[in-house]
Amino acid sequence: MRACIHSIETFGTLDGPGIRNVIFFQGCPLRCLYCHNADTRTIKEANYNINELMNSILRYKPYFEASGGGITVSGGEPTMQAEFVCELFKRCQKEGINTALDTCGYVDIGVAKKIIPHTNLVLLDIKHIDDDMCIKLTGKTNKKSIELLEYLNEEKVPVYLRQVIIEGWTDSIDYIKRLGNFANRYSCIEKVELMPYHKMGEDKWNNIGMSPPFKDIPPFSKNKTKEYASLLNKDFGLKVV
Ligand code: SF4
Repeated sequence: MRACIHSIETFGTLDGPGIRNVIFFQGCPLRCLYCHNADTRTIKEANYNINELMNSILRYKPYFEASGGGITVSGGEPTMQAEFVCELFKRCQKEGINTALDTCGYVDIGVAKKIIPHTNLVLLDIKHIDDDMCIKLTGKTNKKSIELLEYLNEEKVPVYLRQVIIEGWTDSIDYIKRLGNFANRYSCIEKVELMPYHKMGEDKWNNIGMSPPFKDIPPFSKNKTKEYASLLNKDFGLKVV
């Protein structure tokens, strides 16, 4: 069994708890205007087989155990290679390795239901709560993400809800309050991660011969992001980082 993998970060600390192998899969169904991994969006080649990948992951097991980490599949959108992810997660869990799925949520629920039973944590990137705005921002509806979140809630699968804060799109107080009300409907959400829009992915657009659509939008203020985090914490009781 082979997968199309863009790259692997062996000591990731940002995508789930502890030290993690973060495996970035090729291919994504969305076209986010702010994409920070534009070079992962197209599937190019099947370059990893499952046995090789597992052998590589197992070398890091002591670090996972010492730090409470594990593996995170990211991308791109890893659920586009669901069969491989499912098998990878099964094998990791059998070895006692924690599994996290970093997803945009644009996945058929039937496909998600195959992966989720082998998933310890979901990092769900909610692009925009307003569906019309979500379509403008990503090219696709948010309905599948919400359906996935409802399923995760029923199954009591821990979720970190992620929101990128972008000037003119998701940065108003009204929007943040809407996000607070939305997140409070789901007891599976253990925490909300607010991520200020940054420019570090712009070179990747240039590398694929495209101009970054948001090149004129400035990076979002880290201090303002902290203010929003504190609002979500105080007014909505949410754990926010
Ligand atoms: S979901 Fe992620 S990889 Fe896909 S287009 Fe959006 S930001 Fe880029």
